[in-house]
Amino acid sequence: MSHPLFRADLHTHTTASDGTFSPAELLHHAVEVGLSGLSITDHDTLLAYEEALPLAEELSLPLLPGVEFSTLFQATSIHLLGYAFTSTNKKILELCKNQRMERSRRNQKIVEKLASQGMAIDLKELEEARLSAQVIGRPHLAELMVRGGYVSTLQEAFDRWIGEGKPCYEPGQRPTTEEAIEMIHEAGGVAVLAHPHLLPPHFSPHGLLRLPFDGIEGWYGRVPKFREKRWIQEAKERGWLVTGGSDFHGAIKPHLPLGCSWIGEETFSFLMERYRENLKREALHEKG
Ligand code: AMP
Ligand code: ZN
Ligand code: FE
Ligand code: FE
Repeated sequence: MSHPLFRADLHTHTTASDGTFSPAELLHHAVEVGLSGLSITDHDTLLAYEEALPLAEELSLPLLPGVEFSTLFQATSIHLLGYAFTSTNKKILELCKNQRMERSRRNQKIVEKLASQGMAIDLKELEEARLSAQVIGRPHLAELMVRGGYVSTLQEAFDRWIGEGKPCYEPGQRPTTEEAIEMIHEAGGVAVLAHPHLLPPHFSPHGLLRLPFDGIEGWYGRVPKFREKRWIQEAKERGWLVTGGSDFHGAIKPHLPLGCSWIGEETFSFLMERYRENLKREALHEKG
């Protein structure tokens, strides 16, 4: 029987990428809001786990390793969540590292595009100011655009300049969704289609849903129940997992509080069990 009060949030970000809570602050906050389980899914980095794994143990908060990758399916940007590999898995760490190098190139291109529109953003200053962030993403650039007085809010930066399809948008080189799913599988992990509710309205998901996902993030942020239903159905029809999470980023997305979407005990236990198997397998492999 699963416990009715069990809630695990499987989609959160820390200062290792574009969140505003440090890994320790996030864990304490998770305990404070009464979560029974958590996954940190920073963009392209597992750095938070260095601090978070020992602290989670101390706090008796079950912590499931996770990550969020930006991928491309045909011409559409698809976010992919990976779970249950170990935080030292070489395949995942390598993909993270490659994507971070690509991000530097992409950030440079965005900064050039902004400069051509009369907005001077100092990328060096940004990299130095955010020492704890292993990943610099568009929210950081948006922050500098606000500070420079070019826009008044982060949202305006996205809506006018750096959001998908806007004049200074740059997709960057990304793995295809299929390639990233395969790498997560090679790491013993579980690959989940993130927030399908945010896909462009004209996008038809039939082709995408033929890829070998293991789950869909059916419960997401503050998406209304009636819009979640369809994706939960799509997952169930395929025998896939239904996962969920808030996409907590702290102060940059105050409308998404920690725990506003979550999953119950059954799915969380399944994922934790997979994680423990991967830990055992890798420990044996190291010995042998
Ligand atoms: P990046 O990984 O650099 O492409 O940045 C992606 C992050 O930017 C997402 O996780 C969101 O936090 C934020 N973001 C992306 N698109 C938007 C948007 N249209 N409005 C506000 N925030 C956005
Ligand atoms: Zn983010
Ligand atoms: Fe995302
Ligand atoms: Fe996210």
